[in-house]
Amino acid sequence: MTTPLAAQADDLVKIYGKGDTAVRALDGASVAIPAGTFTAVMGPSGSGKSTLMHALAGLDTVDAGRVRLGGTDLTALDERGRTLLRRERLGFVFQSFNLIPALSAAENIALPLTLAGRTVERAWNDELVATLGLAGRLHHRPSELSGGQQQRVAVARALIARPDIVFADEPTGNLDSRTGDALLDFLRHAARDLGQTIVMVTHDPRAAAYADRVVFLADGRVVAEEDDPTADAVLSRMARLDAPARIGR
Ligand code: ADP
Repeated sequence: MTTPLAAQADDLVKIYGKGDTAVRALDGASVAIPAGTFTAVMGPSGSGKSTLMHALAGLDTVDAGRVRLGGTDLTALDERGRTLLRRERLGFVFQSFNLIPALSAAENIALPLTLAGRTVERAWNDELVATLGLAGRLHHRPSELSGGQQQRVAVARALIARPDIVFADEPTGNLDSRTGDALLDFLRHAARDLGQTIVMVTHDPRAAAYADRVVFLADGRVVAEEDDPTADAVLSRMARLDAPARIGR
């Protein structure tokens, strides 16, 4: 039996600007994300990583191609449809945490459910809080938490509604390496043991090595994939992708 796909992008094209200054940020990008896997997206700066993630997450539209999330054709939805789908089926973790300063950690975690008018599933909430080591911090405001703690709150918030996919954009970018490693360990655990689908954009080969698979972008296309990546394998692949750009400069 093949694993069902959580998301699939076919031949995505995204063009910014017009005429001579037009940039093809995505130029035929295709990728399939099996459910319950942890996928890292890598590529040189400007290769289209953010644009691809925004397209997969319905944060932005594309000029051609199709994005499916489970059975839903995202590219056929209007802005309101995409907003609802993001709220109900997706989770997000950003480099800058993006917590609400006036809310406690517990309230920040519950926010996606509060906004959707749903109640917190106590057992799941407690499991996330315990696994992420947040039990003693629930009544603190974000400003009273360390960067690592804030990011763990952001991860709990992303998972609380059991989304179809969690999108993480450089989630360890603002963390020291030990705190970052602990967070990546948790993301791997969430995929392997809890069945959570995770897509993470990163430029760090060490971070990518925590994923089940790395998808490499260059010039707006997926040009390679690596299963069970090691940091060394990712690094050498990235060096090859970077080389032509360096020579051209
Ligand atoms: P990456 O995340 O891999 O660094 P991006 O997806 O941010 O790459 O960008 C891909 C290309 O699209 C780059 O050439 C970038 O300059 C261009 N681009 C991205 N966003 C915009 C925008 N809003 N307007 C114009 N060009 C953009």
